[in-house]
Amino acid sequence: MRVTPERCIATLLTGLACAGCVWAQPAAPAAHHVPGGFVNNDAHPPNASFWAWQWERLRNGLPKAPPQGWNLPAVKTDAALLRSPAANPSMTWIGHASVLLRIGGKNVLFDPIFSPRASPLSFVGPKRLVPLPIEVAELPKIDVVMISHNHYDHLDEDSVRQLANMASGSPHFLVPLGLKQWFAERGITRVSEADWWQGFDEGPLRVTFVPVQHWSRRTLTDTNTTLWGGWVVEGEELRVIHVGDSGYSNDFRDIGERFGGFDMAFIPIGGYAPRWFMQVMHLDVPEAVRVRADLRAARAIGIHWGTFENLTDEPADEPPLLLARQRAEQGLRIDEFDVMQIGETRSLRGEPVGLWVVPALGLPWGAG
Ligand SMILES: [Zn+2]
Repeated sequence: MRVTPERCIATLLTGLACAGCVWAQPAAPAAHHVPGGFVNNDAHPPNASFWAWQWERLRNGLPKAPPQGWNLPAVKTDAALLRSPAANPSMTWIGHASVLLRIGGKNVLFDPIFSPRASPLSFVGPKRLVPLPIEVAELPKIDVVMISHNHYDHLDEDSVRQLANMASGSPHFLVPLGLKQWFAERGITRVSEADWWQGFDEGPLRVTFVPVQHWSRRTLTDTNTTLWGGWVVEGEELRVIHVGDSGYSNDFRDIGERFGGFDMAFIPIGGYAPRWFMQVMHLDVPEAVRVRADLRAARAIGIHWGTFENLTDEPADEPPLLLARQRAEQGLRIDEFDVMQIGETRSLRGEPVGLWVVPALGLPWGAG
């Protein structure tokens, strides 16, 4: 692969979006609060060299897009349906880790990214692979926005600015410890910070921040100075978890035990390659299937794949194919761990609801 200035800048930005770093691990199990920031609950090896990964992918020209392009499922979101009372409770996958829930009469948005790139710059960095299925202006009033951690593909500045300025009023932003200041610097003040296991009442909803194994960095000097985690939402007799971004850890078994199971889990299934670099911070597909079991989730949807180019090295359309293989090997039904089309809305209760369930397209993973 030719080394162009754009490729070099993109390489640096990829490092800020999802790549590795080294930080000291506590000698013994310790609180996750340490001087200057936070650490994970489980001890794990320090992350491998980001530059060794970049050299490897440059040498091998990864990821390699096929000439005909990736096979990615996407539909335009039915915005009118999202504003109608009939679509409650529902889930809409907006792409990557962005998920909209309608539950308990509230609209809840996780890790919103509506920008053309997952990048600090508008003209370079990982680009969207399929069109954005819905614009911020088309959304119903958003009551709560939950941010999992401070990486560019999960906390997008332009998106949170647009949401804070919605004509219907600013949502309540729930963010990990250390991030309130970042919002305040941008004039966004309806913000609450959460530590692991801390809960909030949002009208009829109970919302709790939970530990996962990950890290945070936005600039070259703020590594792990803000916390990371997943979010649990309980309401309308449903318990839902959005894992955010994570490697495999004992946190999931702990969360499953503490909550006694989930009706729905949004679990990342992309971002796993190469394993020698990503294992600490990103699940692969077999690990994601274990996470569903650890969480005791009746159903799961695989997120964090198929949306932005070049974030990691696996083919962009591979995760759902590996998921179909895992289902077959483990005897799981498709509704127990499925994927959605980007932009698609489904019932949170699992049963088809009226006309707003988009029919399967007959893609390879639709039959698994
Ligand atoms: Zn991340």
